[in-house]
Amino acid sequence: MLIDPFQRKISYVRVSVTDRCDFRCVYCMSEDMEFLPKKDVLSLEELDRLCNTFIDLGVKKLRITGGEPLVRKNIMHLFKSLGKKLGKGLEELTLTTNGSQLTRYSKDLFDSGIRRINISLDSLDKNKFKRITRIGDFDKVIQGIMAAKKAGLKIKINTVALKGINDNEILDLVHWCGENKFALTFIEVMPMGEMGEKRADQYMPLTDVRNLIQTKYSLTEDPLRTGGPARYVHCHETDQKIGFITPHTHNFCEMCNRVRITCTGVMYMCLGQQDKADLKTPLRKSENNQLLKNAIYEAISRKPKGHDFVIERKQDEKFVPRHMNVTGG
Ligand code: SAM
Ligand code: SF4
Repeated sequence: MLIDPFQRKISYVRVSVTDRCDFRCVYCMSEDMEFLPKKDVLSLEELDRLCNTFIDLGVKKLRITGGEPLVRKNIMHLFKSLGKKLGKGLEELTLTTNGSQLTRYSKDLFDSGIRRINISLDSLDKNKFKRITRIGDFDKVIQGIMAAKKAGLKIKINTVALKGINDNEILDLVHWCGENKFALTFIEVMPMGEMGEKRADQYMPLTDVRNLIQTKYSLTEDPLRTGGPARYVHCHETDQKIGFITPHTHNFCEMCNRVRITCTGVMYMCLGQQDKADLKTPLRKSENNQLLKNAIYEAISRKPKGHDFVIERKQDEKFVPRHMNVTGG
């Protein structure tokens, strides 16, 4: 079992399987983002071994993310293989996706044992969607979301609240998710990676989002806690959960149960800190997983107490110097 210095049990691992993506969302990447050479990225077999080692060490939940996880070639091999661990140590296998490939993969995902997925969607307006994702195809995403629903996957929509961009769509999103029986989570922009534009200009506090929703809907607190920065409410009119991810507060760090792995096998013990551990070297050095396990134990012993995000209206805006597609959010 993995226990950190603050007695937190690490039971949840998020694995980025690629840094590549078929979108270039304005808050996540720069327009001319450069991706890693393929040789630096772990093979699917290595990712599988890494995930299995975490399961051996007591991890119960795996989230596959990216970049866009579903653009990785043969990715379904990994889902199928990890799906076999469900009920045998692993309790939940899930993914976060931009939805662009779901028409093709939803049924296979369900057949691999996946039951719930997170889909990122920041706008219901085709033009605005293009402005946010730069190159995303709105119709393809909506078709993908509907294919996932039809395949029986439970859907949570993730929406990054962007001041002056989608703040006039908050109520429409609540209504649309209610009609489709999707949960909905709003996310505050996090200062990850240099963007070319100032992050503070995109930042919209979720207290504003919640106040806006309450002008039309009645919300009551939901006790659900997932060990992450999300807080949930129940929306009576739509009978759905609405989540608020407010990473700028610290009130979730003491319950943190997760770590993140990049597609190059680097483990980040906290999304908002730079300390990391190389797992690729021990993974490749020996077929026996003991070296890898030792490296994981050592890294967990360095998990920090909390993050250090700051968004300020200053010239020297502070940010974590890696983009979100590296650690997958
Ligand atoms: N491509 C997939 C997707 O978009 O769902 C998975 C990877 S993406 C990095 C995971 C989540 O991080 C998405 O919901 C995205 O909106 C969010 N995200 C990316 N950059 C962010 C930022 N700077 N602040 C807050 N959320 C961000
Ligand atoms: Fe791609 Fe997801 Fe980042 Fe958008 S948020 S650019 S879809 S990785």
